[in-house]
Amino acid sequence: MRRGAPNGKEHVWKACARKGLQVRVLSPPQRNKFLSMLDSLILNKKSIESIYKTICEYHEKYLKQYGVKLPKLYASKGKFTKDALVLVYLAYDYPKTRKVTKEELTKFVRSYYPDTNDVQQARHLGAQSGWWIVAGGRDNIVLNIKRGSYQLYTLEQPYPSFKKGHRVTDTADWGKIKEKYNFRCATCGSQEGKPQFHWSATKTVLQKAHMDPDKPLVAGNIIPQCQKCNRGDRNRWVYDEKGRVIKLANPQVIKTCDREVRKKVYRILYNEFKGKNPNSIK
Ligand SMILES: [Zn+2]
Repeated sequence: MRRGAPNGKEHVWKACARKGLQVRVLSPPQRNKFLSMLDSLILNKKSIESIYKTICEYHEKYLKQYGVKLPKLYASKGKFTKDALVLVYLAYDYPKTRKVTKEELTKFVRSYYPDTNDVQQARHLGAQSGWWIVAGGRDNIVLNIKRGSYQLYTLEQPYPSFKKGHRVTDTADWGKIKEKYNFRCATCGSQEGKPQFHWSATKTVLQKAHMDPDKPLVAGNIIPQCQKCNRGDRNRWVYDEKGRVIKLANPQVIKTCDREVRKKVYRILYNEFKGKNPNSIK
């Protein structure tokens, strides 16, 4: 049974073993029922408060500076908030976090909010509040997780694309970014203080450049670029971290494209918006 226990139940087994519980004598259906009860029993009020305290400590030390939002533990009437419950559940046994299915989370939240149908908190805590919670099927870069499951990746760094990131104003951070690029322009490779690659009479000056000009100039959205690559008209593009153009940022760029391309773009958009009047599209 232990080997066959679904992911996320391991901790329950360990907890049972610690408490000397004889779970093995139960029949499989009894065991499953018992385990699903244990998920909420183990995280009693005291455990929740204790895990939340750990989260607060990490938040204070690593995440607050990036604007990551710490949910309140209690709502009115001394009831736990749903956000805190979900975060606590994911942070159980941190840093040895585990994959948690949406069903498991829903079941847990239901023990405090019986009317809960669909727990969206894990997703919101990631993308909107800045906690690095990996959602299956979406950002499978750091962890391999199936759709409908979540795992807290770390409490020491914010969610990578978190927009309210930490402003790179101090020279130490900017120095680190440049160092990562070996003091070269991410786009053309010209080295700081040396002649610019295409304009040998120009001395390369590295500037903080937006990857996406529509997002703030904060960590995660900054690449070093030389003064030639970081000209104002480059606000037309979105760059990746290697300084390559990956998207249009300014739709006016389409006017400079060949008619054949514009016709194709028109067909794509016409199909997407089903030929509706452009002013009626929200
Ligand atoms: Zn350059």
